Parts: sequence; C-alpha cells; structure tokens
Amino acid sequence: MLETAQKLVTVNCRLCGGGDLFFLFDSYDRDIGKQEKFQLVQCRLCKLVFLNPRPVFEMFHRYYDAERYYPYQMAPQAPSAGQIAVKEKPKSGLKKAACDPANPIGYFYLSYLAQTKGDFHRIKKVVPSQTRLLDIGCGAGQFLLSALRYGWRVQGVEMMEQACRKAKELGLSVFQGTLQQARFPDKSFDLVRLSHVFEHLPDPGASLVEIRRVLSDGGKVLITVPNFGGVIARIFGKSWWCVDSPRHLYLYTPKTLRRIAEKAGFKIIFQRTATGNDGILACLEYWMERRKRPGSGGTKFQFHSEKFRRFIQRITPMVCWGFDCVGLGDGLEMTLQKE
Ligand SMILES: [Zn+2]
Repeated sequence: MLETAQKLVTVNCRLCGGGDLFFLFDSYDRDIGKQEKFQLVQCRLCKLVFLNPRPVFEMFHRYYDAERYYPYQMAPQAPSAGQIAVKEKPKSGLKKAACDPANPIGYFYLSYLAQTKGDFHRIKKVVPSQTRLLDIGCGAGQFLLSALRYGWRVQGVEMMEQACRKAKELGLSVFQGTLQQARFPDKSFDLVRLSHVFEHLPDPGASLVEIRRVLSDGGKVLITVPNFGGVIARIFGKSWWCVDSPRHLYLYTPKTLRRIAEKAGFKIIFQRTATGNDGILACLEYWMERRKRPGSGGTKFQFHSEKFRRFIQRITPMVCWGFDCVGLGDGLEMTLQKE
C-alpha cells in the first residue's frame, strides 16, 4: 500500500517532562527524498533538542529505505588473525594504563585506536573475551560478526527486516523489533552497544531503563551519537549534515546525553568526541542547497569542482583533529556503567 500522508504526533520533553518548548528551525527529509518538512524544538528547561511533532512509531519504517539507507548496505569486515587469537594475559604497568579509559594514557591510546582502526579495536582492549554483547540497531551485523569471531557471545536487535535477513544469513542471532519487544532475561549482557542508534530511539530514557535491566552488574553501554554541541553543528545549524530528519528524533549535546544517562542510573566513565572526514563537505553542500533552493530538502547540491572538493577533504582531518582535541567534535562517544 502506498502511504503518502504524514502521521505526526506532538510530544513533551522526554528528559524533564516539560512542555515549555521553543521552535529552533525547520528541517527536511534529505536522505530518502520525500521532501517532507519537519521542525526541531528545544526544551527551555533542560535544553534537550528534538523533532516535534514527529512521525508516529508505526510510520517510522516509511523513512528507512532498506535499499538506500547506508547502515543496511555495509559489507561485513573479515577480522584479521590478530583479532581472532584471543590472549587473556594479566596486564600490568603501562599496558594496564593503556587499556584504562580513566587514565590519560589510556584515553589517548583508546581514542587513537577508535579513530584509526574502528570501534571494535578499542572495545576489545577494555572488555575481556567471552563478553556477552548486545548490539542494538545492529544493521546488517558488521560489528557483531567481528565480535563473534573474536570470541564474544553476541546478540543483535534490529528493526528492519531486510537488514535482519542479511545478518541472519551470516549466522548471527538477531531479534527483529525493538529492545523492549525482545524481552531478554535480566542481566543477560555485559556490554550493550548503540552506534548512531540512540538518536533514533523515540523514548531514550525508557530504552536506557530496559538496557539497565538486561545488563549485568557493572556492565557497560557504549553510545555514539552526533554531537549537536560541536563546532560544526554550531556553525552550520540547520545545514548540519547530522540533522537527518525525521530519522534523528533527538540532537544530543554532551550535557543532555549525560543527564539522560544519569537519570537512568548510569555513571559516565568515558567521553570524547570524534569527527569523521566527510562532514564539512556535506555541510557546505547542504548550505549551498538551502541558498539556491530555500524550502527544498529533497535533492542535494554538489560541488562539481574536483579541485575544491580535494582542497576541503585535505584540510578537513586537520580541522577535525583540532575540534576533537578540545572536545567539540562532530560525533559524541560515551561509555556508561551500570551503578
Ligand atoms: Zn526538558
């Protein structure tokens, strides 16, 4: 059946429950190209930024095109021999410090690993083998496959049927639906991962409460979200590439994410920002798009000068490194621990 009408619902602030909201800016569905218009609001009391009104839950699937939405297309990475050979040696001295996110040496070493080699290489430094991992919004199962081959016991949760099917074809255990629908037993997992997923969840506080229930005592949660408090978001505002309405229901800052986590009974044990290399060019293109066609969100302007594109791509890593050094980068990573 072809669904053409927007079905929207107005919500209160999910952090403080307040209804005193002010309009921030209009936004458009830029990815799927339906050209539908939405709006972002901010709570006056707690400063949480969110989409309001937003599509009703039953209509979410309409905004995730399985053929085009990139997390569902990722080819699984084959882990290297080094990843598979697990050696549980007791650590001491410098090695111990390097694997402790609370230690300054560990902070920089783990940040370096995550930036250069990806999430998995960092996480396996701080989590022992045989860890029971739950990846919420696991997409086609790329991360789960690496973790499985490393020796962890893994489980995924994914809403989209097509992505679930791809993950299952790889032999992964994936529940299709929401975390709440999965009804995992208490304390089933030691680590829960939500990589660019938390901003998509309609009730983040309720999701964290459920995550807390399925986590073992002292279990950890790794959350990565776009950082609305970063420099790139502040400069580009409504042209920021991570606005991504209506899929991103919330745009978090370090402060609002921290408050939601603490309210659900977690303490924050690691926080940093990490900026990818495509964001600035994408923001410039969205900004040009708005200048050329105000009110249009469907198609994206593209710079045709290869020279200009290369120039931006060359200076971006340097600029982003500077933002991350002062904690104002484009992506926000937090590790939470169940108290
Ligand atoms: Zn609020």
